[in-house]
Amino acid sequence: MIDSPYLEINLRKIEENARNAVERCRPFGVEVLGVTKGFTALPRIVSAMNAGGIEKFADSRIQNIAALRRRRFKNHVTLLRIPKLSSIDALLKYVDCSVNSEYAVIRAISDKAVAAGIRHDIILMVDVGDLREGAMPDEAITLAEQVALLPGVRLAGIGTNMGCYGGILPTIHNLNLLLEIKKEIENRVGFELETVSGGGTSSLRLVEDGTLPAGINQLRIGEGILLGTDTTHGREISWLHQDAFLLCSEVIELKTKPTVPIGETGNDAFGNKPVFVDKGMRKRAILALGKQDVSFEGLIPVDPNMHILGGSSDHMIVDVNDCPEPIKVGDMITFRLNYQGLLTSCTSKYIRKRYVTS
Ligand SMILES: *Cc1c(COP(=O)(O)O)cnc(C)c1O
Repeated sequence: MIDSPYLEINLRKIEENARNAVERCRPFGVEVLGVTKGFTALPRIVSAMNAGGIEKFADSRIQNIAALRRRRFKNHVTLLRIPKLSSIDALLKYVDCSVNSEYAVIRAISDKAVAAGIRHDIILMVDVGDLREGAMPDEAITLAEQVALLPGVRLAGIGTNMGCYGGILPTIHNLNLLLEIKKEIENRVGFELETVSGGGTSSLRLVEDGTLPAGINQLRIGEGILLGTDTTHGREISWLHQDAFLLCSEVIELKTKPTVPIGETGNDAFGNKPVFVDKGMRKRAILALGKQDVSFEGLIPVDPNMHILGGSSDHMIVDVNDCPEPIKVGDMITFRLNYQGLLTSCTSKYIRKRYVTS
């Protein structure tokens, strides 16, 4: 018996997803940055993406990048979360390029880079409507002019982020806006910008449709390569694997019980007042998997006849009444993951990582 819970990571499927993403984007002149934050930049997964043809990587946490560098990882890495004023030394030590939107931070990066005798690449983030990070279009142009004058940084390009806070979809319209801003910046600063970074997985849709505006030359892809899904559009991507990551946990109790608790109701273990619908007596399994291990909202039972009923810090209760094959104590129950499930199970020290290559 393999000690559970464990996350089964299929390196071949991740490599194939990476290769398919790279090959879909290449005809459009679009380079794929492999985004590693969804799996805490675990080195074997990074290597699988690299084997699939991804040369440049991106993560939101310097800690993840530093861990890769300590293993002599030499590839180009972009920091995807705007750097903190308090973390610039580490930024310059481990990271080649970062996304930015605050002049005070960029000036501080430039000052420290000059002192260290290096130059750091900057992608200026422009907010085209999703309202997370980035300068609004008018501000972006003046900010670019100021950044272009700083000696310790290179204005390598501009980028935008969508489908995160506001759920805004990438469109021909908002990506053309980004390209117009690029042109205006080039007019003002007098040199060409190397990179126009047009979003993440949700922008793959425009690549598939053949409608990605010419000039967008980089996408930063995490979810698509890892999970084969595009949450912003609420879809599975047909040409990618959806099962490169599977979470498995063991049944430790199997009993038929009423669907409504018996007795006076207070709060549950997390202070919420639970609500129940009476469905009579149902067979349910308890798994050795709790909210301390993984976010339950992030899990989808592979068997569509199973339903997660709830749980607490160390237990998950699953309705298995309608499963055609009888479930036994000691069986392993398997889940697919969404992005939240992937993040939490990779971060959890209680979930073992088990790599397969077939
Ligand atoms: C996480 C992140 C991405 C990757 O997004 P996916 O939807 O996983 O492809 C891209 N850009 C930024 C700025 C991010 O933080």
